[in-house]
Amino acid sequence: MSQEQQAVARARKAFETGRSKCLEHRIRQLKNLQRLFIERQSVISDAVKKDLNKSEVGTQLYETLGLEGEISLAIKKLKEWAAPRPVEKNLMTISDTVYIKPEPLGVVLIIGAWNYPWAVTIQPLIGAIAAGNAAVVKPSEVCVHTSKVMEDLLPLYIDKELYPVVTGGVSETQELLRQRFDHIFYTGNSMVGKLIMEAAAKHLTPVTLELGGKSPCYIDKDCDISIACRRIAWGKYTNCGQTCIAPDYILCEPSVQDRVIEEVKKSIKEFYTDNPKTCPDYGRIINQRHFKRIMNMLEDSAIAAGGDNDESDCYIAPTVLRDVKPEAKVMQEEIFGPLLPILPVNGLGEAIQFINKGEKPLALYVFSSDNKVIKRMTDETSSGGLLANDCLVHYSVSSLPFGGVGNSGMGCYHGKFTFDQLSHLRGCLIKQLKMEGVNSMRYPPHTLKKLGWARFFILNNVDVGWIGRMTLLAVLAVVAAVVLQKYLL
Ligand code: NAD
Repeated sequence: MSQEQQAVARARKAFETGRSKCLEHRIRQLKNLQRLFIERQSVISDAVKKDLNKSEVGTQLYETLGLEGEISLAIKKLKEWAAPRPVEKNLMTISDTVYIKPEPLGVVLIIGAWNYPWAVTIQPLIGAIAAGNAAVVKPSEVCVHTSKVMEDLLPLYIDKELYPVVTGGVSETQELLRQRFDHIFYTGNSMVGKLIMEAAAKHLTPVTLELGGKSPCYIDKDCDISIACRRIAWGKYTNCGQTCIAPDYILCEPSVQDRVIEEVKKSIKEFYTDNPKTCPDYGRIINQRHFKRIMNMLEDSAIAAGGDNDESDCYIAPTVLRDVKPEAKVMQEEIFGPLLPILPVNGLGEAIQFINKGEKPLALYVFSSDNKVIKRMTDETSSGGLLANDCLVHYSVSSLPFGGVGNSGMGCYHGKFTFDQLSHLRGCLIKQLKMEGVNSMRYPPHTLKKLGWARFFILNNVDVGWIGRMTLLAVLAVVAAVVLQKYLL
């Protein structure tokens, strides 16, 4: 048995003991995870610093703070999320108990990406634990140091049989994917996403695919360009552009392009000084392969700001590209680096047309002081999420579903959405072995009269509150009994 097979078999066996289903167990595990982030902050930050040159404060701000929030929320809300959820009934089922019962799926495989290695790997794990599953955690091998820290630390805090960590690269992941899971939660690029789905199909395993793509950003000429560019520069250059929801490119009218360039330059200087290379808050490209990939994109576009680079240090300065053509290299795939192309368009209509020609993005940004512009962009496009007049911050709102649509992914998570995503929402109806007369309308011989009654009972929904329901129930029971005795039976 390979190491991967063993880990999955152990997790399955642990799941079958039933302990992950117990609410107290789930809460205990979540509290242990919470403790990990309090006690091991410096080990976590050191590893992320080595992988991506993020500062300690940066790691807390963009990775662990959000996780701490998600854990607290899950602990606080778990009882409510896991409780049976009563639903509306029709007249036919009015005396029955009808509800949705969230139940664990089983063993979940979580495959993480490297760009926010803690956030994208642990956030699904929080939901998996909360929903009562076992989970095999596979961090990205690309963030070498973080992956090792995760492998070392997680078993010290949470049940290592139920939630084993498996490290390794493509071949280890492929070996994992040959095993049977009850759900696969993958974060990474769309190309690999297709392979994941293919492997999952063999076992009919459902998947959540948190993918990426080119997230457009439209700047309307009627807006505070200075504030817009500050927020865009922050969204773009945070983590050196290696953010799945970073604004990928700007669309704006030619008349405002120069202003946009000047304002983005101003913000770069304000955030990262005249020399971002020595600024502790400016990151690095994850490795030389990605460095080369990004530098190649620069070839056929005009640099308006930045462009400095150092391969030995995986450094690429915050860069702005002007008058970029749709055919340019930088527009052919997700940039995932600190290059900000500006594509001039003639107004909102053309911007919408351009966006709709591409794949549905993970995020869509529109900057305008005119609500009509925002509304048109919202109504006439589709994307995983939409933000007006800001970047990235929707990620931090636990009550919003986070996820893609079409090529940017399927399924969603954060807060209760993660819990639901990793639960089976079981539809339950509990009937008593009484009032058999009511059922005669569905038993053969079928007649038009019975059909008429069935229409009445099935097509009428009831939502009259508790007392109303009881009264109605009593009245209906009497009426039904009388009617059925007299006319149907
Ligand atoms: P990556 O290279 O770390 O790959 C992700 C995972 O897939 C890794 O664990 C890796 O082992 C595995 N993998 C890679 N190739 C594989 C193969 N051939 N078969 C099986 N498994 C394989 O990460 P990446 O893909 O470079 O991540 C960046 C992408 O992820 C970007 O497109 C970004 O937009 C997207 N992303 C999306 C989100 C989101 O929440 N939607 C978050 C972060 C990143």
